[in-house]
Amino acid sequence: MPAETFKTDLAKRICEEYRGSTCELDYSNEFELLVAVILSAQCTDKRVNQVTKNLFKVLKTPKDFAEVNKVKLEELIRPCGFYHAKAKNLIDCAKDIVARFNGVVPSDKKALKSLAGVGEKTANVMLATAFNTPAIAVDTHVFRVSRRLGLAKGKTVGEVQTCLEKLPKELWANTHFSLVLHGRRVCKARKPMCENCKFSNDCKYNKELKKKNKEKI
Ligand code: SF4
Repeated sequence: MPAETFKTDLAKRICEEYRGSTCELDYSNEFELLVAVILSAQCTDKRVNQVTKNLFKVLKTPKDFAEVNKVKLEELIRPCGFYHAKAKNLIDCAKDIVARFNGVVPSDKKALKSLAGVGEKTANVMLATAFNTPAIAVDTHVFRVSRRLGLAKGKTVGEVQTCLEKLPKELWANTHFSLVLHGRRVCKARKPMCENCKFSNDCKYNKELKKKNKEKI
């Protein structure tokens, strides 16, 4: 089977396994999602959801965030870690949205990436989750799992993203969410649970591991 056909088939099966998977952050509008995604850097979605439950009661709109006292915001988001930098990014981002986009989160990638604190990954999560636009965000789980499986290769996030973008566009968003879940539940960073993995027969990492173990015997 040609490599690209194999990858597409494998991605389809992973999407099927995690059918219905989506972003696990809690939000009720595009701006809340953007805030939650910015807070989720180096933090679990569970922790972010605990923090935003209260945060969004206190601060609701881009204008609220643009005008909030930084120290007050830092206290509200402290459990998410990196709270000095995240508070600055949230305030600057909200100011951008108010000043340049009339208080509305933009829906195209270039405009999203022009916001303070919004990089490639955040923009892609926003496109796939809030705006129903094909995008594949490469976070730590997507990076690790796609390379182990052989869906992508490369040493950088950009190289992995380029590989994954060779999949059919209609699979991009679901592949992202499915790989995130597979990484959280099965293909964990330190101890991947290969014996319980439905994709072990396809997985490059697992095949190499088996080969090494055979050589040892
Ligand atoms: S076989 Fe192991 S390394 Fe490969 S995807 Fe499954 S859990 Fe991850």
